[in-house]
Order: sequence, then structure tokens, then C-alpha cells
Amino acid sequence: MTMEMPKLPQQKGIITPKIYSEADIQLEAERLSDVIQQKERWDIEMCKTIAPMTLEINNLKKEKDVFIIAHTYQTPDIIYGVADEVSDSYSLSKAARDAPQQTILFSSVRFMAETAKIVSPHKTVLHPSPDAGCSLSDGINGQDVRNLKQKYPGIPVACYINTTAEVKAECDVCVTSSNYLSICEKLPGNKLIFVPDKFMGKHLQKSLKGKKEVIIYDGECEVHAVFTGEKIKSWRKRMSIQGIELTVLSHPECDSDVLEESDIIGSSEKLIKNALELSANGKKDIMLITECGTAERIMAESDNELNLIGACVMCKHMKKTQLEDILQALKYPKPEQIIQIDQDIIDKARISLDEMFRLAE
Ligand code: SF4
Repeated sequence: MTMEMPKLPQQKGIITPKIYSEADIQLEAERLSDVIQQKERWDIEMCKTIAPMTLEINNLKKEKDVFIIAHTYQTPDIIYGVADEVSDSYSLSKAARDAPQQTILFSSVRFMAETAKIVSPHKTVLHPSPDAGCSLSDGINGQDVRNLKQKYPGIPVACYINTTAEVKAECDVCVTSSNYLSICEKLPGNKLIFVPDKFMGKHLQKSLKGKKEVIIYDGECEVHAVFTGEKIKSWRKRMSIQGIELTVLSHPECDSDVLEESDIIGSSEKLIKNALELSANGKKDIMLITECGTAERIMAESDNELNLIGACVMCKHMKKTQLEDILQALKYPKPEQIIQIDQDIIDKARISLDEMFRLAE
């Protein structure tokens, strides 16, 4: 693997887990090291340090009947150690809605936990890191959408799922990176407003050219905005000198010059699925243009030889949550860790999410 990976999480010391026997810790550490599948970085000693936490979290979630959801960009100790469901925004919003448990713990950034509350308002939704934001969702508010609607009256508004409940409440339909192209194409009329991601908006403008005019907003994901088409070109050149033919997989939150240089564009689930298929078919040299969590999942879930090339970028908001925060929120949830949204905002935001489920299925 040529890809530079982020540093391993450092313990914060905010909570002390229960004491377990050496045998239990050894067994759990072996399980963790096996499922994470990065034996050099996550060796047995490292796994032993987190084992008491995963053991206690897994016991508590059974005892309290809590369903733990984690976004792909969370760290592998959370994903493979304690999560019941791991995926991208679209699948996770459905998982939150359909889970039979009455308490959901959402390990991710705030807007995702809010989305879980909107689709299942009768459930308790715990969010261990209340200050874990997102440059997209923090860059737009309800008033910004109302201003756009006033400027362009009668035009449907589609909002990316990376928005607050207040913004979703102002939109006609919500979309995710797995369905924005197909859903926006289905909207009535020949114009639409798309918020907040300008890069996905530019991608939409290109894809719907001649069919619809797309009015876009000025938001961006600070992680995906870092990548450039030039960097991909130079990596391709360097690799081809060594006789390596790269397949480049990118997330649509990247700018258009990146997408133009890419072989496959898609949500994190699509990128993982395609990377696993490529490696199974012997195309092992893959460049991933997205957050580091996607690469960590591919490494853990691939049974085939894989050569991940380049440098992923880490989202500081996504990495705010650690096992300790999850344990603390399960044991002693603070008021700010329990998602509360006004009922009228929930009712309005729910319409945009239900419309997404209807148009996506
Ligand atoms: S990766 Fe980008 S879009 Fe995702 S949470 Fe981080 S800042 Fe937001």
C-alpha cells in the first residue's frame, strides 16, 4: 500500500472503562485485529488498549437495546469494534428509520444524527460529539434558502443531505451522493435550485445540460476541496512510468477538474463496492480521491491483493468521535448529546426526506 494513512486515535481519558480479565482482553484484541485487517497499524498491543472499551460498549448496547450506527468516515475501531450498521448517508438514514430499537447512537457528524431524529422522531437519538460539524452543513442556514426561494420563486429546491434540519425543512427534496443525479433529473420543470455543495452543483449542471438549468450555492466540503485534477494527472504519469495503470475513484464532492480525471465517481458505498470488484478482477492499483475512512474500509473488506496509491484526506469533524465518547454517551448521556429538534422543523424536514425515499426507490 502506497497510501499515507492518518494517525491512530489517541485516547482522551474522559472515561475509564470497566476492568476485564486478561483472557477477555486478549480474545477481544484478537477479534479486533482480525476484523480491522491492518495488522501493522492496529496490532495486538494497540487492540488490547481499546478492548476494554469495545467490550463494555458492546455489553451496554445489548443491555440498553441501543442500535449503533457509524458513518464510513469513522475510525475502524468504531466501525468494526462496536457498530451495528456502517454505510453512507443514504443507507444510514434508512437504517435509522427501520431499526426496531428505540435508542439509536449515531457515531458521525451532527447533521447525520439530526437526520436520524427526523426520520424516527419517536426514538431517542444519541450523538456522542455534539460539536462535530461539517463545512457543508455549517455553511448554510434556513434564511439562506428562504432568500434563494424569494429570488427564484416557484423553482424546486433540492438540498444535499449534508445540511441541518432547519435547512432540510426549507427544501422540497433531500438528496445524497448516491442519488442526487437521478432525483434532480426527476424534479418538475426545467430549473432547480441545488444547495449547498457547489461542486456537486457543477456536476449536476454538466449532467443536466440541455435538460435543466441548475442554480447553485457556494458551499464546499473542506476535505474533498483539497484534491486537484493536476495531482491525479501527475500520479497517473508517475505510475505509468513504473508500468502501473491506475484506476481513479472519486467522490462527487470534489471539483470538476478532479471528476474529469476520474474513472469512477460515486458515494463512499459505491467507491468501496467498485474498489472491491476491481481488486477481485485483478485491477489492484487504485487511487482513491476521498476521505481516509473509505480506504480503511476497503482494506478491511478486501480479500484480494490491493495497492492503494496517493494520499487520502482526513475529516477532522468525523474523527472527533472516539470509543470513549460512545461509552460516555451510552453510560451518562449529557443533554447536548440527545438530539432535540422542534416538532414543526421535524415535520417539514421529514417531507424532504420522504420525498427522497420515494424518488430513490
Ligand atoms: S468529509 Fe466533508 S462533507 Fe463529510 S463531514 Fe467532513 S467536511 Fe462535511
